[in-house]
Amino acid sequence: RNLRRPGLANLENDEGHDAKNLRVKLVLLGDSGVGKSCIVLRFVRGQFDSASKVTVGASFLSQTIALHDSTTVRFEIWDTAGQERYAALAPLYYRGAAVAVIVYDITRPESFCKAQYWVKYSKMIEAISFIELQKHGSPDILMALVGNKADLQEKREVPAQDALDYAEKNGMFFMETSAKTSDNINELFEVLMTFSSFI
Ligand code: GDP
Repeated sequence: RNLRRPGLANLENDEGHDAKNLRVKLVLLGDSGVGKSCIVLRFVRGQFDSASKVTVGASFLSQTIALHDSTTVRFEIWDTAGQERYAALAPLYYRGAAVAVIVYDITRPESFCKAQYWVKYSKMIEAISFIELQKHGSPDILMALVGNKADLQEKREVPAQDALDYAEKNGMFFMETSAKTSDNINELFEVLMTFSSFI
């Protein structure tokens, strides 16, 4: 695998002309059990597996989306479940990432607290990268806050408005999804892609 420069090289042109084939590294963060793996599986394979096992370590999947003007965006998705146990590897997960998707479960307030921790953590990593990578251009990470399990409305404990307020305060994009019903899953990646392809 070819190694890529971080920073501006978050988005790379495979063909070497017109920036038509973009690659976007995306890291998924959030408490265990919030549905990170299910979101990725729903997006990449169009499936929901309720027996999905908790991810150990990191898993990697990619999905290419075509835009109307013949541009393609290849999402390289790093599912970093269990990252607390692998804290030493964290900078590696973030290296070259253009997008961080921070997920919580709308039925579990503690997972929303944990999401806020990951937001702060991502900002810290971004700040460190900025110091390290000044010479290579902007290391900005596009951050999105995602409230998953939106199908469980009757068990909701995190009001959407609270999450929206928090996201706006932190300059993040916010959306609620359901990997189970597929609600907003494609929309989430479409929005991220739209923002990414403008970088
Ligand atoms: P991860 O540890 O964050 O990767 O979480 P998983 O993707 O392994 O999902 C944890 C559990 O939540 C699994 O039992 C899933 O079936 C369930 N789950 C994931 N997404 C949803 C969802 O949108 N709605 C509901 N009701 N359950 C979900």
